[in-house]
Amino acid sequence: MAQKDHMIDGNRPTLCMPDGQKSCFACCPPIRPAAYEHLTHTNIVKRILRENTADFDSRGEEVRPITGYSCWALGYLDSEYKVIGCLLHPARHGGLDHRFRVDYGGKCGREICPEAKTFSLLSSPASRFWIRLADGLDSFAYSSRKENPLFHLLGWGGPLLSRIAEEERDKIPTRESFLSGYVFFGTALLPKGNAYLLRKVVVPGGIRLLKEEKFKCSFERFSMELSEEFGRKTPPASDSTASHLLDLEQDFKDFLRLHLGFTRIHLHEALLLKEKVDLRIERFRRTST
Ligand code: SF4
Repeated sequence: MAQKDHMIDGNRPTLCMPDGQKSCFACCPPIRPAAYEHLTHTNIVKRILRENTADFDSRGEEVRPITGYSCWALGYLDSEYKVIGCLLHPARHGGLDHRFRVDYGGKCGREICPEAKTFSLLSSPASRFWIRLADGLDSFAYSSRKENPLFHLLGWGGPLLSRIAEEERDKIPTRESFLSGYVFFGTALLPKGNAYLLRKVVVPGGIRLLKEEKFKCSFERFSMELSEEFGRKTPPASDSTASHLLDLEQDFKDFLRLHLGFTRIHLHEALLLKEKVDLRIERFRRTST
């Protein structure tokens, strides 16, 4: 997330550069093994970042492709060595983009992680509410999926996060106070695969349910029942469509693919399934709220 073009906005926090104390550098460069966690290599990464910063020649034009898992242009952006980001970014070069020097095509300016995308769609007050949950984290903890709760929470989707921020607008949460109040977010359910269900159940007026342990348990059971009842049991037809390409709501497509296991499906089958699932959701919502 280190300083993507479409994330620079002086009027509101962005997920990659929320304030002058920290930044997210988790996706620079985006070619690491799936379970990579830089926190386990903090000392080595800090040394590399210091070397990159010291060796950086801002007037250079040389093209040096990225090799291995680390980019030579990732370094410290401030004199206190707190904020980590791209030394070639146009924001540091009077608007001129020098990222061609790593020979990565347009990828550096274009790529954005799903969480940053969701965050960028929140209103300014909502983004300011949520970013408080990362107060006190340094750039290393902030860039870690394990340490930064925003990575997990943003998986539940913009509509839910916006409603919670609205509901809590007069409060100033800390990470601890928020997570101990909203017990639901202690669930082991996969946020992206269940965001559709949760949105349909609680966004219409049941946000308070997220503070009840009883609701968390019954929602977990409900989610499991749907997966057992509607989950894919036979291989997809060869002429079916990749489910992420269907013309349906994004969180329903995520539910289909990640929770029910339909990587491919015909649109009419998906619509039929949606009708059945929506009926079940409505029944569950009426008994929960
Ligand atoms: S050139 Fe900049 S944006 Fe691209 S991977 Fe390197 S540090 Fe990240």
